[in-house]
Amino acid sequence: MKYYSLHHKSPKSSFKNAVISGIAPDRGLYFPEKISPIATDYIENIEKYSHHEIAFEAIKQFVGDEIPDEKLKEIIAETITFDFPIITIDKNCGSLELFHGPTMAFKDVGAKFMAKCLEYFNENNPEEVTVLVATSGDTGGAVANGFLGTKGVNVVILYPSGKVSDIQEKQLTTLGQNITALEVDGVFDDCQEMVKTAFLDAEITKKLTSANSINIARWLPQMFYYFFAYKSLKQLNKELVFSVPSGNFGNICAGIVAQKLGLPIKHFIAATNINDTVPNYLIEGKYVSKPSKPTISNAMDVGNPSNFIRIQELFDNNFETLKSNFSSYSFTDDETREAMKKIYATSQYIADPHGAVGYLGLQKYGLKTTEFGVFLETAHPVKFLDIVEETLPVKVAIPEQIQQIMTKEKVAKKISSFQELKEFLTA
Ligand SMILES: *Cc1c(COP(=O)(O)O)cnc(C)c1O
Repeated sequence: MKYYSLHHKSPKSSFKNAVISGIAPDRGLYFPEKISPIATDYIENIEKYSHHEIAFEAIKQFVGDEIPDEKLKEIIAETITFDFPIITIDKNCGSLELFHGPTMAFKDVGAKFMAKCLEYFNENNPEEVTVLVATSGDTGGAVANGFLGTKGVNVVILYPSGKVSDIQEKQLTTLGQNITALEVDGVFDDCQEMVKTAFLDAEITKKLTSANSINIARWLPQMFYYFFAYKSLKQLNKELVFSVPSGNFGNICAGIVAQKLGLPIKHFIAATNINDTVPNYLIEGKYVSKPSKPTISNAMDVGNPSNFIRIQELFDNNFETLKSNFSSYSFTDDETREAMKKIYATSQYIADPHGAVGYLGLQKYGLKTTEFGVFLETAHPVKFLDIVEETLPVKVAIPEQIQQIMTKEKVAKKISSFQELKEFLTA
């Protein structure tokens, strides 16, 4: 499989090169040259296959012959090590829980898959690569965990001092081995700016790669969730509508790839907080990015979603086609809290603020009786403990994997300028 740059000014790339470099030389995102539907027979009989088999069937064309089938199966088995249950909220809607992985965030799947691909491609390379990532919270933990112990790969995570939750900080700073946490005196935008500058710096950029959802190996495996959900819900015989709490729009974009592969999905809803660049685009027909605003669903505080350009490409850059398959709505923090209360009142289900935004998307869309709505629950409520316990009359039990990490010692190096980052990376 070849990938082209969405800026159309770089040569086509192999899967391997796209995974290693993350972004094309012209700074465009990579996009697969061709998406061929899976046999309808396979999809009609999906319940006969295991999650590992389905994931292999879904992703194999994107990898092509660049990873042998047996190795790819092994990578999938190491990635999909937990379940993706759907919890019924009421008779026409359910929560697809993506948070049962090691760091309790849905990003665990993409991070692990990418780590294993990079490890495979780098096996015979004497030089180590460095994954450089800025995090406002969940990405860092998932990447740290996914890459822990990966041979030939070092991970450097920048996070804003005092701006991530205690749990998130522990997940970033306690692993050791090939993972280094840099605690930046600043806000998330400062971290991201330093990372961008590093990628543009000729002296250090060569050995760097990125691990956010612009990387195809982090983006594409997210389509597995939609296949697994379809497998669970097929016997309902209803049309499926997915509402995805969206920040950089990587997750929902992978869902649309699943639809292109032939998965019968009726409609997609990208639910956002007040960072409403895409909802506005759908109303106005003009894309205007804005600086991000802080909210209680902070993993979605993104003013210029990087993957939206891929969504446009998936709909042939046709505004009308996009609008008939895809809606996007924005919600305030107050509406999000009200939704958390309403979900709890109807079903005693504890949704985190991101999942609640997804639920609101389904409400606004207005499900028909022939449809079943699924909102993606992207983080365990414990990751947003303060907001959940303030909003709902509950105490959230701290899961085992979080309890363990809370007793470990934080190790982070403080930095306050790009120069210090560069010194660290060249040392
Ligand atoms: C990253 C994240 C999102 C947003 O996902 P995108 O793929 O960037 O749209 C939503 N919820 C949580 C909890 C996240 O960590």
